[in-house]
Amino acid sequence: MIGSAGAFSAAGVAGFPALSRAATGRVVVIGGGFGGATCAKYLRRADPGIEVTLVERSSHFMTCPFSNTVLGGLTGMDFITHGYDRLSSRHGVTVIHDTASGIDPAQRKVSLQNGSDLSYDRLVVSPGIQLLWGALEGYDEQASQAMPHAWQAGPQTTLLRQQLEAMPDGGTVVIAPPANPFRCPPGPYERASLIAYYLKTHKPKSKIIILDAKEKFSKQPLFMEGWEQRYPGMIEWRAGSAGGSVVKGRRRHEDPGDGFRPSTFESAIHPGIHVIGDACIAGKMPKSGYSANSQAKACAAAVAAMLRGESPGTVSFINTCYSLVAPDYGISVAAVYRLADDGTIKGVEGAGGVSPKGASADFRKREAEYTVGWYRSITADIFG
Ligand SMILES: Cc1cc2nc3c(=O)[nH]c(=O)nc-3n(C[C@H](O)[C@H](O)[C@H](O)COP(=O)(O)OP(=O)(O)OC[C@H]3O[C@@H](n4cnc5c(N)ncnc54)[C@H](O)[C@@H]3O)c2cc1C
Repeated sequence: MIGSAGAFSAAGVAGFPALSRAATGRVVVIGGGFGGATCAKYLRRADPGIEVTLVERSSHFMTCPFSNTVLGGLTGMDFITHGYDRLSSRHGVTVIHDTASGIDPAQRKVSLQNGSDLSYDRLVVSPGIQLLWGALEGYDEQASQAMPHAWQAGPQTTLLRQQLEAMPDGGTVVIAPPANPFRCPPGPYERASLIAYYLKTHKPKSKIIILDAKEKFSKQPLFMEGWEQRYPGMIEWRAGSAGGSVVKGRRRHEDPGDGFRPSTFESAIHPGIHVIGDACIAGKMPKSGYSANSQAKACAAAVAAMLRGESPGTVSFINTCYSLVAPDYGISVAAVYRLADDGTIKGVEGAGGVSPKGASADFRKREAEYTVGWYRSITADIFG
C-alpha cells in the first residue's frame, strides 16, 4: 500500500496524450483551487496556443489539506498558503483576481464583479463548496464566528485555532461531520486526531465529542486504533443512530447534481462548460483535493483535444487520502478509477487499498512522512 501510494505521487491522471496538431482558443477557468489552478496550468502545458484566463477571487490560496495541522499547532497558516505568480510567469496563465458573478452560456461569457466580461470558447468551473447559511436552523454566517466550521481554509482556520488556544483545560470540543457526500471524507476525523494531539500536551483534561450524521466513516478502524493508542479516552464518537445527528446548526454542502459527461466533465445541460472538483459528483471518486487535481488533468487534456477538433481520449483517475493521527502516525486510502462501460466513473478492482491495521510504529511513521511528501508534491504540481 505504502509503495503504491508513494509511487502515485501527484501524477494525478495516467497517460497525458502527446499532441498531434496545435489547439487555439480561449478557455476561462473559474476558481483557482485544487481543480481550477491545476486545469489552468495543464491546459497551457497541453498546448501553449490556448489562451487561458483563471478567475480567482482571493490573492492567495489556503489549502484545506494540512489545515488540520494548523489546528493542532504543528504548522502555521504560511505553510498552507500558496500564490499564483508562477502560474502566470512560468506557465503563461492570465490570472484575474475577481469574483465571477455570472455565466451566459448562450453568449459564452463570464461576468466579473468589476463589471467586465470575459468571452470563452470553453469554460471550466471549479468553485469548490459554498455554505448555505440558514439552511439549518441556528447556523448562519454570524454563528460561524462563534462556532467556526473551518471547512474553507483561511480566517475560519485561524479562528478555530484561537478558540482552541483560549479553551480551558477540561473543556469539550464538539465536531459535527455531515452526511455524505462532503468534501474530504476523512477530514473531520483527522481534525479530531490533531486537536487531540494538541490537547493531550496542553490541556489533558479536555475531551472531543464527534456527533456524526453517519453510521460509519472513512478509515474508521484505522482512526479508532490510532485514537486508542495515542489518545485513550479523549475522543468519543457517536453515530447518527446513537444520538450523533445534529439537527440544528450543522453545515450544509451545496450539491449541483451530476449532469455532466464524465469523460470530459462537460455539462450535459450547457455545452462548452466543464465542471470539476467538489462542485461535481464524479461517480465513486471522493470529494478531495487529489480527486480535483486528477479530474483537472483529464479535463485539460479533453478540452485541448476538443479545441483541436479531435475526440478526447480515454481517461483514468487516481486518489489517495492521507491522514495524520499524530505527527509521526499516518494512514492512507488509495484508489484508481476509470470510466466503466455504462459511462460512470468506478473504482478499479484490486488497485489501491488502505493501510493495514496493527502496523508497526515505524510503518505509521513512514506513512506520516509520505503524507508530508504528498502535500509538497501536489502543491508544487498545482502552483509551481
Ligand atoms: C479540513 C479539510 C481537510 C482536507 N484534507 C484533504 C487532504 O488531505 N487531501 C485531499 O485530497 N483533500 C483534502 N480536503 C478536500 C479538498 O480541500 C477539496 O476537495 C478541494 O479543495 C476541492 O478542490 P476544488 O477545486 O473543487 O475547490 P477549492 O480547492 O476549494 O477551490 C475553489 C476556489 O474557487 C474560488 N471561487 C469560488 N467561487 C468563485 C467565484 N465565483 N469567482 C472566483 N473564484 C471563486 C475559491 O476562492 C477557491 O479558491 C480537505 C478538506 C477539508 C475541509
